[in-house]
Amino acid sequence: MKGPDRFLMCPPEFYQVDYVINPWMEGNVDRAKVGLAAEQWSRLHEVLAREAVVELVRPHSGSPDMVFTANAGLVLGEDVVLSRFLHRERQGEEPYFRAWFKQHGFRIHELPKDLPFEGAGDALFDRSRAFLWAGYGFRTELDAHAILASLLSVEVVSLRLIDKRFYHLDTCFCPLEGGYLLYYPPAFDARSNNQIERRVPADRRLVLEEADAINFAANGVNIRDLFVVHRAGESLRAGLAAAGFRVFESPLTEFLKAGGATKCLTLRLSESPSPGAKSQTEIVSRVLSLEGHLLDSGLLDHALELTVQSGGSFQILNFQLGKQRQSTSRAEIRVSGPDPDVLQGLLEQLIGLGAIPGIPEQLGDASLESVSADGVAPDDFYVTTIYPTEVRIRGQWVPVTGQRMDGCIVIDHLESPRPVARTRLLRDLQVGDWVVVGVEGIQAVRKSESRDERGIGGMPTAEFAFMGAGVSSERKIELTVSQVAWELERIRQRGGKVVVVAGPVVVHTGAGEHLAALIRAGYVQVVLGGNGIAVHDIEQSLLGTSLGVDMSRGSPVQGGHRHHLRAINAIRRCGSIAAAVQQGILKSGVFYECVRAEIPFALAASIRDDGPLPDTLTDMIEAQRVYARLLEGAEVILMLGSMLHSIGVGNMTPAGVKLVCVDINPAVVTKLADRGSIESIGIVTDVGLFLSLLVQQVRALSPSKSAA
Ligand code: NAD
Repeated sequence: MKGPDRFLMCPPEFYQVDYVINPWMEGNVDRAKVGLAAEQWSRLHEVLAREAVVELVRPHSGSPDMVFTANAGLVLGEDVVLSRFLHRERQGEEPYFRAWFKQHGFRIHELPKDLPFEGAGDALFDRSRAFLWAGYGFRTELDAHAILASLLSVEVVSLRLIDKRFYHLDTCFCPLEGGYLLYYPPAFDARSNNQIERRVPADRRLVLEEADAINFAANGVNIRDLFVVHRAGESLRAGLAAAGFRVFESPLTEFLKAGGATKCLTLRLSESPSPGAKSQTEIVSRVLSLEGHLLDSGLLDHALELTVQSGGSFQILNFQLGKQRQSTSRAEIRVSGPDPDVLQGLLEQLIGLGAIPGIPEQLGDASLESVSADGVAPDDFYVTTIYPTEVRIRGQWVPVTGQRMDGCIVIDHLESPRPVARTRLLRDLQVGDWVVVGVEGIQAVRKSESRDERGIGGMPTAEFAFMGAGVSSERKIELTVSQVAWELERIRQRGGKVVVVAGPVVVHTGAGEHLAALIRAGYVQVVLGGNGIAVHDIEQSLLGTSLGVDMSRGSPVQGGHRHHLRAINAIRRCGSIAAAVQQGILKSGVFYECVRAEIPFALAASIRDDGPLPDTLTDMIEAQRVYARLLEGAEVILMLGSMLHSIGVGNMTPAGVKLVCVDINPAVVTKLADRGSIESIGIVTDVGLFLSLLVQQVRALSPSKSAA
């Protein structure tokens, strides 16, 4: 029986895997058995032609993928929006499809040049609700969705694809009659899955297993209660049967080699517009300006990559290239997000890179909202970064003081001629505070980092270029340590400030004595850490063990597992670490040297602490305040084997302070050193080895001021 459904197909006369533009084609060039492909296609054609009208478009040599008519365009009623293929390999198909639609009386719409959209491969009408599901991430640009909404007067729901095996929406997502949806959730990002779950009730969602997904089970054609598909596993067939569908398998192995199956081989021509449907989409865009050494510093690349990774898309509207090595470039970029929240988060990150929302000639003031409950910010408050920031108040750029990550910007003395902007943590907000919201009128003042300054491609050239961001390989460690030693020596000579953040592993590796030596010799001005490092340092000093291991012999001591508790108890009896030094109980070690040299230290508590020592700050907010105060004015921070405390310190530290992060775990080092600024360096090595090398190097630089 034939219904009202109409499809377009293209005979596989010139079909073959001729090139590689998706992961399925890899290894399959020239491997499709064309005779078998023709048989499989004819079988599918026969099945569909029994149920619907199937029209044919003439194939053309040199366009092997024309057989996948789903990508010809998107049809709604008499209208068709033609595809603009991303890959050059398929762009040759465009005139053939255009000619066919023209010949058949369709109203033809075309997207702007260079805005990729791959037709019904990435745009699927819901079969029971009046909206269009549209995919982006690999082939179709997000901006094309907004144009589809207005051209076809439909609501568009944008879904981001994240698994390159499922490069088109129709490879992993299939709306079915009766409001059912067959799909493979891991192919989408979290926001998209959320969108799907909000719009399709749980009892209508048929979730594919990976085994079915990679057999293109979502790439089926649904005509009334019939579901035609390449292959469906047993449980999927049962699920579809329970939902009232008859499954018909029509094998398409030869087309899978090109990354397509049933749905890809067809284009539905009989899509009827829903009465009263209106153009609607949540997509939002902003124009940003970016200025600096955009190409040689990799900044532009970084900004565009960040945009895509955050679920947005971009279009470069204008680019002025600085032609000399020292001259800067300027770009105007339109950035889009699938909804205002994604765009806001993305803009905040781009502002952190130095982008300005708007074009410099037409900037507005920052938007402000007042706080209505203590400790609670307005909803879309701007979240601060580590970079020096300015906000525009009545046309003037006001620098923000107290820069740190993850705070809000509060404007004091708003009505006065000299308003003041400061970073404030959420918990410190008070009713009536004026908080900067949105992204308008905010700029991060980024130092222009050229290729030379970053020391890319050879030995560092600039003064602090040894801090060139990146993670050191083992070969470079010795060189890097000597450069750190040189920097510490210079800071010591000019009376500057070096902060050490350290974990107990400093003591476990036997390097406590090296850190103590650095403190004694005046290379360290503040020590920050947790209860652990102090406990193990004091255990080492009082009982000669670290975690019950005799550090001189490297062997466990009988009953040694209680040593750290005995150490804690001894200090508790004295009242504090300083009191233990004064009473002659504590006579060596990192914290002994701190007390002797009157170097301030702060110990912040954690859930795993024993004791704790009386000095350990168990009020977390108080501990954060003390850390922040002790970090003020730091020039270099050495982060030694403590993920917890190093990350905490990293968040409180503005750009411009040089961080040296030493950890055995590359992931920790990358996280700590990856602040997008030139001042951070990561060293993947044993902290004991690092400290012993460092002590050797400072001794070599300043034998008179021996660190021994
Ligand atoms: P953490 O997990 O935050 O950091 C330890 C880091 O050291 C890790 O990143 C790890 O990769 C790295 N590391 C391990 N071996 C290394 C080596 N040889 N060289 C270089 N890096 C190495 O843990 P943390 O800072 O040690 O402790 C977390 C919290 O637990 C702290 O507050 C600490 O005071 C507390 N703690 C308390 C006690 C105690 O009270 N007895 C004991 C241990 C830890």
